[in-house]
Amino acid sequence: MPARPEARASTGTVTDREVLGDHLIRVTIEVDGGFSSTGVPDEWVALTVPGQFQTRYYTVRSFTGTQVVLDVVIHDEGLVTQWAQTDCVGDVVGLSDPKGSFELPADAAWVVLVGDLTGLPAIARIGESTDLPVTAYVETPDHPLSGYTDLPVTWVDAPGPEQSGLAALVRGLDWPAGAGYFWMAGESAQMREIRRHVRHDVGMAPTAYDVMGYWSASRGRQRRAVDPGPIYAAGKAAGKDDGQIWDDYDKARGDT
Ligand SMILES: Cc1cc2nc3c(=O)[nH]c(=O)nc-3n(C[C@H](O)[C@H](O)[C@H](O)COP(=O)(O)OP(=O)(O)OC[C@H]3O[C@@H](n4cnc5c(N)ncnc54)[C@H](O)[C@@H]3O)c2cc1C
Repeated sequence: MPARPEARASTGTVTDREVLGDHLIRVTIEVDGGFSSTGVPDEWVALTVPGQFQTRYYTVRSFTGTQVVLDVVIHDEGLVTQWAQTDCVGDVVGLSDPKGSFELPADAAWVVLVGDLTGLPAIARIGESTDLPVTAYVETPDHPLSGYTDLPVTWVDAPGPEQSGLAALVRGLDWPAGAGYFWMAGESAQMREIRRHVRHDVGMAPTAYDVMGYWSASRGRQRRAVDPGPIYAAGKAAGKDDGQIWDDYDKARGDT
């Protein structure tokens, strides 16, 4: 389970805004006091846009000592979605300290990366940071973003607007032989299904995969709210590994 970043730690000013595709906008932020990376290639920050107190998480696509680059996916609606579509250059935003989750086991001989467009920035950065053979699949709502990264990416069509079919894709994967690492991010319900699949059907060790829910398609609908915090704390106190804790979380939500 990834640790979430602390609330706002610094402010920064948007110095550049670039449209990368119909659903993707890049913003460059000059960070007051400079930016200190964790060095973990899927690191992310919590972003607070002007006039808001709520934060949204964004992957640090790239950085220098003073700047961070975030790639914002444009949804049908949304707080940051709306903001990124305005002329935001000059806006002052809040940024948390970065946190990361990707943890390559020492014996890994391959990396498989899967995500929807929100996972693309991390997939590209992870793939660009390793010398291991990488297989990457990215689900897109419109067309391939072929110039986005030099990493070979297999682009797959989303099943429909604001939908994801990545669970079915992962169920159909042929896994490379030997020890490796599987990293994935996307819609939370799909990710829960995939976590169960890789743990129980494929039999991966919890240290061999990291499957992260980046957004929830069910937001706004009635659903069973379960706070993962106490389950995580109780599981850790009981000496459980992350896979066992995720099983407890699924059970509490009634997903199993
Ligand atoms: C660790 C981490 C890293 C992330 N990195 C990135 C990143 O680099 N780039 C990026 O764009 N996102 C990233 N995300 C996902 C992003 O935080 C969410 O998609 C966020 O909800 C978008 O905020 P918003 O204000 O635009 O929409 P919100 O106000 O949060 O949501 C508005 C509506 O849009 C829907 N919605 C939200 N996200 C999606 C989606 N992906 N597809 C379809 N519908 C959606 C919601 O269900 C809701 O109905 C990351 C999330 C996490 C946890």
